[in-house]
Amino acid sequence: MLVVMHSHASAEQVEQVVAAIRAMKLAPHPMPGATRTAIGITGNIGAVDPRTLEVLPGVMELIRVTKPYKLASREMHEADTFVKLPQTVIGPGTFTMIAGPCSVENEGMIRRTAEFFKQRGVKLLRAGAFKPRTSPYAFQGMGTEGLKILSKVRKDTGIGIVTELMDTDNADAVEEAADIIQIGTRNMQNFSLLKRVAKAKKPVLLKRGMSATLEEWLMAAEYVMAGGNYNVVLCERGVRTFSDHSRNTLDLSVIPPVKKLSHLPILVDPSHGTGKRDYVPPMALASLAAGADGLLLEVHPDPDHAQSDGAQSLDFAGFDKLLDSLRHLAEPLGKVIN
Ligand code: PEP
Ligand code: MN
Repeated sequence: MLVVMHSHASAEQVEQVVAAIRAMKLAPHPMPGATRTAIGITGNIGAVDPRTLEVLPGVMELIRVTKPYKLASREMHEADTFVKLPQTVIGPGTFTMIAGPCSVENEGMIRRTAEFFKQRGVKLLRAGAFKPRTSPYAFQGMGTEGLKILSKVRKDTGIGIVTELMDTDNADAVEEAADIIQIGTRNMQNFSLLKRVAKAKKPVLLKRGMSATLEEWLMAAEYVMAGGNYNVVLCERGVRTFSDHSRNTLDLSVIPPVKKLSHLPILVDPSHGTGKRDYVPPMALASLAAGADGLLLEVHPDPDHAQSDGAQSLDFAGFDKLLDSLRHLAEPLGKVIN
């Protein structure tokens, strides 16, 4: 249910509605808009009885939200969400580049990569300290040592950090080091983890589960938002299909329905989506054309010697070439690369 207040409703009247929702043992989510405030209601199992609320002063109307995801839906929140970071903002009109190696391998390579990006105007660096690997014998990431490297390079260069949280045990440390907390495809429905990042002070980059429907994905976003963290950025990274010509099938056709059904920004990860570096630039350009709000890209100073995902990582020259093409395409589409 959504309570829409009159444009002239006072702050006290909004507060009265919020208190009434709490008294019904439900959760109020005030959403100030350009002209009026709306208050989302969650926590109800069945339909909310509108009568106690519609009589309160300042209430214009009550709208039933039909989708199972409420806070993530456009029904409840019509305007696009912009996720604000210290370094930049993610949302429509812009096209945000988040790039970097799959894993933190040592301080030197993170520093080199960050300095390269700073020169190119890229404001966010991705790199995993905790890595979800299919094989227990593969490089598992540097863990907390990796986080320390990311924090140090962030402090020295000012670049923002996007890094993955795999379990609740490391949540405090990752939250401290990250500007955006990444939740990987394998954890999209790790509900304890979603409830933990719902309490985090940092935005969440929620990758689509590799076999998740759009509804399941938005329900995962709903977990984070229902717990009070409204700064969720979706990321399409490819799904499992019968195709074996690429690592995953990058589902760019999910972008228009995401935009229709939700107000959250959506990025695309063409690196995991294709698994091969040659296929990354065309799919990156296609993501921009399809209406994505940015990219999550794997870029490594020496991809052939990367500890993880080298085959799908661009080198610096490859990144420069792609960035140039993206700039050409962004202009006629009315997007600014940031
Ligand atoms: C990654 O970004 O390096 C990663 C592990 O991604 P995903 O969860 O999409 O596989
Ligand atoms: Mn990777």
